[in-house]
Amino acid sequence: MDLIQRAAKDLLTSRWAIALTGAGISVESGIPDFRSEGGLWSRFDPMEYAHIEAFHRNPEKVWEMLREVIPLTSRAKPNPAHYALAELESMGILKAVVTQNVDGLHQRAGSRVVIEYHGNHDWLLCLNCGFKRATSEADLEGPPPRCPHCKAVLKPDVVFFGEPIPLEAQRRALEEAKRCDLMLVIGTSAVVYPAADLPRIAKGRGAKVIEVNKEPTVLTGVVSDYLLQGKAGEILPKVLEEVKKLKDEGRKEDHSLS
Ligand code: NAD
Repeated sequence: MDLIQRAAKDLLTSRWAIALTGAGISVESGIPDFRSEGGLWSRFDPMEYAHIEAFHRNPEKVWEMLREVIPLTSRAKPNPAHYALAELESMGILKAVVTQNVDGLHQRAGSRVVIEYHGNHDWLLCLNCGFKRATSEADLEGPPPRCPHCKAVLKPDVVFFGEPIPLEAQRRALEEAKRCDLMLVIGTSAVVYPAADLPRIAKGRGAKVIEVNKEPTVLTGVVSDYLLQGKAGEILPKVLEEVKKLKDEGRKEDHSLS
């Protein structure tokens, strides 16, 4: 049995399967991850531009990065990996997606139970007085948007390095990690905490952990049971096909017995 077949079988026999996704699942939608060489993140070092201290120090400078990143995420389209997860959910096999991504692509692909661990780009917040409003195209031009009440520069409602995880997302993600008996860990280097704790928590409670990644990670061979190595947009549709095939075979066997 190859690993695709093994993953399909594990999914079909699971009681509560969930997925944890990271930037890698959206690379095939044209949004670079932090590990990509060249391009966006070599011009804007995430530790510098996506750190809350950087925002407090110089929000105008952080908006130089946001003006490039927000359109990338808002104009991107889901890829076959996002669609495969949505279909696994609609088949009743996948119960939730916990995503570290801020691009909204799981929802656009049709996933319904999505826990956004790091927020999203849809809203802007005033860190000074709590004012909140939806992001608009106009925010991407001219000077950074300011709070209409206290004039502070607004910040997208995403979790910057150095910021806590929104309480409700943290609570729900932890609950899912403890409850699941299978966790798909897709396109994450698993080095950004506390998200990186979730596969370890699941494993510690006896869940199977299956990685889908272009390359081995710190979880491989330590936390994960096995790695489906390759592009998520190619691997996940194959797993989905195999799940459907096994389900069909199961149905035929049921009929031949009755
Ligand atoms: P990361 O950049 O640290 O790691 C990405 C991982 O995905 C790597 O292990 C890489 O090998 C793998 N990968 C790359 N392309 C892949 C593909 N096509 N198929 C399968 N795997 C692939 O990302 P992270 O672990 O998510 O941590 C970075 C933080 O920054 C997270 O919070 C992340 O969500 C955020 N971020 C989000 C976006 C987004 O919203 N799309 C983009 C960049 C960064």
